[in-house]
Amino acid sequence: MIELTHIKKTYDTGRARVTAVDGVSLSVEKGDIYGIIGFSGAGKSTLVRCINLLERPDSGRVRVDGVELTELSVPQLREARRRIGMIFQNFSLMPSRTVADNIAMALRHSALTPEKKKEKIASLLELVGLGERAESYPSQLSGGQKQRVAIARALANDPKVLLCDEATSALDPQTTRSILKLLRSLNEKLGITMVVITHQMSVVKSLCRHAAVMEHGRIVERGTAVDLFSHP
Ligand code: ADP
Ligand code: ADP
Repeated sequence: MIELTHIKKTYDTGRARVTAVDGVSLSVEKGDIYGIIGFSGAGKSTLVRCINLLERPDSGRVRVDGVELTELSVPQLREARRRIGMIFQNFSLMPSRTVADNIAMALRHSALTPEKKKEKIASLLELVGLGERAESYPSQLSGGQKQRVAIARALANDPKVLLCDEATSALDPQTTRSILKLLRSLNEKLGITMVVITHQMSVVKSLCRHAAVMEHGRIVERGTAVDLFSHP
């Protein structure tokens, strides 16, 4: 489903050139939940942003669901990106809009009729367990509820892939468990492929089937989550 080949990404900070991702290859199978774990600054976020070309790699190839994203025109890429949902540590909701309108934003290019959009938003909110909160504002929700809204929004265009960038890092342990449970159930129900980046070992252990450990822009270890964490 996802194939990254020799991805390299550097940043020019003015004073120095920082290599954030240093020649990483990674393939993630359809339906997998793939964890990328490592300390802050390891390059996880940059790598995962290369999957939807939020960051453009200096070199290397990005293939998602059979499409070579690095070769698409800007409008084609915009279209392809709708098939790749993403959620973040800070939820990135629009504070001045209701829950329903936050999700509607993701549907603004959709061909659905207004009536069908409303139905879609209602069913997405049901899916994430927030059926009653369509008219709430983000400030009226807990952190876990905000992340549920962000997940509903990320799923609005029926993506094949969901990218999760430290999605539970701002949440307490109990809320983290409930969000991880939701992500797992979405993976099972929808068959959606997930890439999860985290600095928390517990997240990989409880959610992921496969994982890679990143250090200084490189993958230093990879395998099944069980094998990786059963080392002596
Ligand atoms: P090992 O620990 O068995 O040596 P590595 O992670 O060093 O495995 O990988 C060896 C080579 O195989 C690397 O160059 C890497 O590009 C490729 N490789 C291994 N696993 C994957 C994977 N899941 N996706 C893409 N390439 C992989
Ligand atoms: P992680 O997600 O593992 O914390 P990042 O991908 O955010 O790692 O960062 C990897 C490296 O790239 C770090 O050294 C970071 O400072 C640097 N970096 C990330 N984004 C930028 C940017 N926009 N400009 C300059 N340097 C950056």
